[in-house]
Amino acid sequence: MLVDPALSESAGTLSPAEGRAVFYDLSRDELATFLAERTGSTTYRSTQIFEWVYGKGVTDFAQMSNVARSMREQCRGLFEFPEAKILSRQISRDGTRKYLFEVSPGRVVESVMIKQPARMTLCVSSQIGCAMKCAFCRTGTMGLKGNLRTSEIIAQVLGVIKDAQNFGDKFSNMVFMGMGEPLHNLENVARAVRILTDHFGLSIPGRKITVSTVGLVPAIQKFGAMGLDANLAVSLNATTDQVRSKIMPINKRFPIDVLLQTLEELPRRSRRKITIEYVMLAGVNDSDDDLRRLPKLLRKIPSKLNLIPYNTNADLGFDAPERAEVMRWHKWLNDNGMDTTVRWSKGQDIQAACGQLAVEKETAAVALA
Ligand code: SAH
Repeated sequence: MLVDPALSESAGTLSPAEGRAVFYDLSRDELATFLAERTGSTTYRSTQIFEWVYGKGVTDFAQMSNVARSMREQCRGLFEFPEAKILSRQISRDGTRKYLFEVSPGRVVESVMIKQPARMTLCVSSQIGCAMKCAFCRTGTMGLKGNLRTSEIIAQVLGVIKDAQNFGDKFSNMVFMGMGEPLHNLENVARAVRILTDHFGLSIPGRKITVSTVGLVPAIQKFGAMGLDANLAVSLNATTDQVRSKIMPINKRFPIDVLLQTLEELPRRSRRKITIEYVMLAGVNDSDDDLRRLPKLLRKIPSKLNLIPYNTNADLGFDAPERAEVMRWHKWLNDNGMDTTVRWSKGQDIQAACGQLAVEKETAAVALA
């Protein structure tokens, strides 16, 4: 039974009467409202504080030299700045790093820093586990344990930025492709995107951020209407409803034609292309008929295609396609007018590749101990 997106937990919203706020749960606008109510301060002041925290990484109000002393003292008791604790960090042969973060006491997720020749991509989780139960994905086997709060998403990003100093690198791109279905936790993901892209803060360009979904149609429409500054990726993964419903249960609620019609009508910021993801599963969705159908299905959608050769998960009963077959698809699609790239797996030796993230019971127990 799928959880209705409309019923998703709305963690992360805080009423000012409740005492301290978690700073990383508030967008700049929400911070302004909170501070106005609590201290009577102006938006100008709250923006300065937002800049100190995200722009300069300063969380000690005493150091915020351009903020009036009385204001600094008032603020001290108002906020918490919880950091994500690194429970483990594994480094792959290819340089990809997988983090196990305790984002709040007892709440554990994975984040991955993916090393590519010309860039580094940070892959963050949006939920603990996932309700979507895609047959080929290991996170789905966990079921949904909970939505991450905005601050728990931000904590992964800040945690990785801090640890990256040990390696002398930083991420250039960010994807919501870790554990969970981001559009099933849209409120918190959207607020996190607003915080991350804010010009007074980390100022990550929205065109470098991608939110990936299984195809939750109502949430996609909401995402479009919000005008969020982030790219959208959609996991299509099949060309017929028969196959897609078998490997992605969400297809029974939102079949391919409904999904593609939604994408066609989606208001797109700056005419950005939608990324269509296609996990290649040998003998399941990689026939020549599938190949021929793909460009036809996508012809009305301004899109680019991302082929993802299946990353093996033991016990799930799927096989990866031959490398030559993936290359043949890649060439044929490009020759037939589809802007196509292949996402060769990274970090497979440490189970850090797409669809391999999961937190085992034993790990969660360590976090609680
Ligand atoms: N829930 C979101 C984002 C997380 S998964 C979504 O489904 O889009 C990110 C991508 O990894 C998706 O395209 C998903 O289809 C793909 N994926 C899942 N399991 C995989 C596996 N075992 N091998 C390769 N890709 C996989």
